[in-house]
Amino acid sequence: MGVKVAKFGGSSVADAIQLAKVKKIIEADPERKYIVVSAPGKRFDGDSKITDLLYLCNTYIEHNVPCDQIYQVIVDRFMAMEMSLGVNVGLEKEFAEIRTKLEAGEGPDYIASRGEYLNAKLTAAYLGLDFVDAAGLVKFNEKGKFMDEETDEALSAELAKHDGAVIPGFYGTMPNGKIKTFTRGGSDITGSIVAKAVDAVIYENWTDVHGFLQADPRIVKNPEPISHISYAELRELSYMGASVLHENAIYPVRGRNIPINIRNTNDPEHPGTMIVSEAKPEDDGRVITGIAGSKDFVVINLHKNLMSSEPGYVRRLLGILEGYGINFEHLPSGIDTVSVVIAKKQLGNNLGDVLDEIDRKLSPDTVEVSHDIALVATVGTGMANRCGTAARLFAALADAKVNIRMIDQGSSEMNIIVGVENKDFETAIRAIYNAFVTEGANK
Ligand code: ASP
Repeated sequence: MGVKVAKFGGSSVADAIQLAKVKKIIEADPERKYIVVSAPGKRFDGDSKITDLLYLCNTYIEHNVPCDQIYQVIVDRFMAMEMSLGVNVGLEKEFAEIRTKLEAGEGPDYIASRGEYLNAKLTAAYLGLDFVDAAGLVKFNEKGKFMDEETDEALSAELAKHDGAVIPGFYGTMPNGKIKTFTRGGSDITGSIVAKAVDAVIYENWTDVHGFLQADPRIVKNPEPISHISYAELRELSYMGASVLHENAIYPVRGRNIPINIRNTNDPEHPGTMIVSEAKPEDDGRVITGIAGSKDFVVINLHKNLMSSEPGYVRRLLGILEGYGINFEHLPSGIDTVSVVIAKKQLGNNLGDVLDEIDRKLSPDTVEVSHDIALVATVGTGMANRCGTAARLFAALADAKVNIRMIDQGSSEMNIIVGVENKDFETAIRAIYNAFVTEGANK
């Protein structure tokens, strides 16, 4: 019998009603043994996520403002859940301890992690499973970097002792015992780490949508669902802004070939999206798998005569960015030109200094900066080795009167990325979607 890991996101564990659905899902399949939970999320539009309230509490305390009211909202939500679920996990004592540590300045990671911690305790009691804390098992080094192998070793040894357990997502500990969280949405990563540790046959990620769609439904009306997608395609789409799963949740399971299945807690019969090592385009003959993108990039364009015969020019350019700790996204180049595409938030206030340094160290003939650029990625393994895909894409953008400012295609031929002006972002996505999917040409 295989073992399955099921991770439930914030909206799936938002209150006792949602947890009753979780229980049904778990009871429907005895292979679902290891459960990872987020903190309670929003119960309705306009509601607050527990994690957001916890961060807010911490900010108040850092600014010497009393946070009693917000704290009470958090306490009340958990107390109500404990009562409705008919369990007793000693919440009063837990909250007294959290409050003391909060006042003592334990810091944002500790506070934020308590949403998952308490929720896992409640869920474990409700499902009749063991609670296994992530503290001490999910390991980060002293610089806060996640330690893959050490975690895998500790977690598999511990979980082998439990024939089923609930594990809080989102956090682990550093060597000094201090709590460290992943970035937001990080319970997805915990789920993946647990799936790897128990060598699961599948990692089920239960959320409130039916899986991945071919485009953002806020931009394209009723986009088609994606039934199968490869890890690599997903990585491209999530990196470019498609948000269902944390972009780093793929790595732990990818090495072991464990498929991820995105499922909907509110519609458990729906098969969702299956994320596998190789999505076979011939399954449904599709050319593109999805379109994603994001706004607010800056492009620095450099021109220097005979740049192409000056070894190390681009390396020195990247060295300047590295000096400021700036990551770049793309580096399209011509014979005597090179452009660097950087997210605006990566640049922060450093643009002026970076340009000064480029001027001093690289003596370019001209430097131009384009602001407010959006990137749109069209992704699909089905595009590789197929003629006419790029032509169709560019024709669609031309017909929609979208001016293309940059083009980049990955060497895998699995994506075509175009840079357009922010104002054309939505038009570009709709034009590409229509050209491939709506017009039935995605074959
Ligand atoms: N609760 C955390 C957040 O809201 C982590 C998670 O839900 O995955 O970001």
